[in-house]
Amino acid sequence: MATLYIVATPIGNLGDFSNRAIEILQQADQIACEDTRTSSVLLQRYEINKPVFSFHQHNEHHKVEHIMNLLSSGQNIAIISDAGMPGISDPGFLAVRAAHQKGYRVEVIPGPDALTTALVASGLPCDRFIFEGFLPPKKGRQTRIQTIADSEITSVVYESPHKLVRFLETLHQFAGAERLICVARELTKKFEELNRGKLNDILADYQSRSAIKGEIVVVIAGKNYEE
Ligand code: SAM
Repeated sequence: MATLYIVATPIGNLGDFSNRAIEILQQADQIACEDTRTSSVLLQRYEINKPVFSFHQHNEHHKVEHIMNLLSSGQNIAIISDAGMPGISDPGFLAVRAAHQKGYRVEVIPGPDALTTALVASGLPCDRFIFEGFLPPKKGRQTRIQTIADSEITSVVYESPHKLVRFLETLHQFAGAERLICVARELTKKFEELNRGKLNDILADYQSRSAIKGEIVVVIAGKNYEE
C-alpha cells in the first residue's frame, strides 16, 4: 500500500537531518515541499533527486487532492516543510487526515522542531505545556495572551521578530513583571540566543535593541511557578 511520509527537516543547522529522513526522501516517488526553492538547498546537499511540487498554505486544500490521487496510483509521497516538523504551524495536517480517512499508510520521520527545542532549552517546566503556535494578528489576540497569562502550565508561542516587543508588552500587562519567560532565538544557528529571566528584564532588554532579527519562540512559565 502507498505511504504518506511526513519528514521533519532541520530548523537551521543542516547537520540535524537524520539518516532515515534522507533515506526516505531518496526512496519516495515525489516530494511535496512548502517552498521548492528553499528545500532545493537541503535536497541538493543530500543528493536527493526526486520530483518535487509545491504544497503550501495557499494551495493546501487543492494539493491534498493531488496527493491522494498520487497515493491511489501507488506512489509513495513525502511531505517536507521549510523547517521542522510539517503540520506544526506548517501545512501537513490536512494531508495526514485525508490519508487516514482513505486508508493509506502514514509514517512520520521524527526530527527537529522549534517548539520542543525551545521548551527544553528554556529550563522552564516541560512536564506539561500548551502550544499556542502563532497568535492571531488582531481579533482574539488579547484574549489568547490573557489565557497564556492565566495558564497554570508552561505556554509556548511562535512570534515574529517585529512583533516580539508588542507581544511582551501585552503579556507584561496581563502576567506582571515577575513572570519567568525564555525567548529562544535562532535555535541551532550561528547566533542562537536564549534570553531567560523575569518578564520585566527581558522586555527591557528587547526594548533597548535597535533591531531584533531571526526566528523566535517564546516560552512562558505557568502563573504560580517560582524558582
Ligand atoms: N514547522 C516548524 C517547526 O516544526 O517548528 C515551524 C514552522 S513556523 C512557519 C516558523 C516559526 O517557527 C518561526 O516563526 C519561529 O517562531 C519558529 N522557528 C522555526 N525555526 C526556528 C529557529 N531556528 N529558532 C527559533 N524559532 C524557530
